[in-house]
Amino acid sequence: MSGVLRIASIPGDGIGREVMPEGLRVLDAASRRFGFQLQITPIEWASCDYYLQHGTMMPADWKTQLADLDALYFGAVGWPATVPDHISLWGSLLKFRREFDQYINLRPVRLFKGVPCPLVDQRGQPRQPGDIDFLVVRENTEGEYTKLGGILFEGTDRELVIQESVFTRLGTDRVLRYAFELAQRRARRHVTLATKSNGIAISMPWWDARADAMQAQFPEVSLDKQHIDILTARFVLQPNRFDVVVASNLFGDILSDLGPACTGTIGLAPSANLNPERRFPSLFEPVHGSAPDIHGRNIANPVAMIWSGALMLDFLGQRAAHDAIVQAIEQVLASGPHTPDLGGTASTTEMGEAIARLVA
Ligand code: ATP
Ligand code: MG
Repeated sequence: MSGVLRIASIPGDGIGREVMPEGLRVLDAASRRFGFQLQITPIEWASCDYYLQHGTMMPADWKTQLADLDALYFGAVGWPATVPDHISLWGSLLKFRREFDQYINLRPVRLFKGVPCPLVDQRGQPRQPGDIDFLVVRENTEGEYTKLGGILFEGTDRELVIQESVFTRLGTDRVLRYAFELAQRRARRHVTLATKSNGIAISMPWWDARADAMQAQFPEVSLDKQHIDILTARFVLQPNRFDVVVASNLFGDILSDLGPACTGTIGLAPSANLNPERRFPSLFEPVHGSAPDIHGRNIANPVAMIWSGALMLDFLGQRAAHDAIVQAIEQVLASGPHTPDLGGTASTTEMGEAIARLVA
């Protein structure tokens, strides 16, 4: 691997275009301080503006343009007023995930000092930072999201719907292995599997067995299996129980939205879509969307974008730079400046600059 990190910056739509410069500002500060080189390729497609001009979200050779890069740094896509979401999303982000085999979706869930938490503990007191600090690992390519099945006797009162799920041993084992490897590097070394083996009679007992088999390879990591119903309740009631949570595509989809929702504003939550073997570029993006309601006012919170950049550097081997960025985020969340979603009056730029100054 050369010492240069080659990254596509793909701002997309709406506030994606406003938070991207702050993400790049912080990456630049980190590269100077930690002595690695960044080669940024700005990409203007994968946006609704591009679609309106070209009738397609991306050029035909998008894959060859991106395939040799180390990572994709992605803002947000979607502008439902002019382009339906199924076109913008399926024409860009979901293509990246599928064709670059980004089979891990990783979302850190963490409560920061200075961010009001919507959850309370058993005594009715607000949750403290340290109570909530876990990772959700979602299987991103198979499972419940298929087009297999159909509707029989349609329009009659015998109407019957079948919707299949598809799990492979390869697809399941690789996400379980990733979760156990992650847990092994963390202090608590604990994996929670989202399951529903008391109701979904074939696939979920099989997931339980695959998780047990994987755990046998990681004797230092503990495993518990929780049914998705009680697991979601515990996200809210006992978030301090979790360390690494691993889930199938559908369960992971639900948990990876619920988790960040438990820690305050959506403007903070980062995500990574990973091809861990690095056969293809991985993609790093904020959890939030293009937020048409606040776009153009320079008030979007840039932290989700910046934190996603930190995840990208960690994935590409720059652990110290990741840690420095997260520390800078911690500090700015604790003492400001804050954008309006955090109750402050600062602009996107002011918050991004404050974080970049601390990283520099
Ligand atoms: P998706 O694009 O994932 O379908 P969406 O378009 O429904 O999501 P978002 O764009 O994420 O939703 O916006 C949801 C709400 O959160 C909006 O009211 C938006 O203003 C707010 N929001 C989203 N991102 C941020 C941010 N970075 N800072 C402040 N507020 C935000
Ligand atoms: Mg949207």
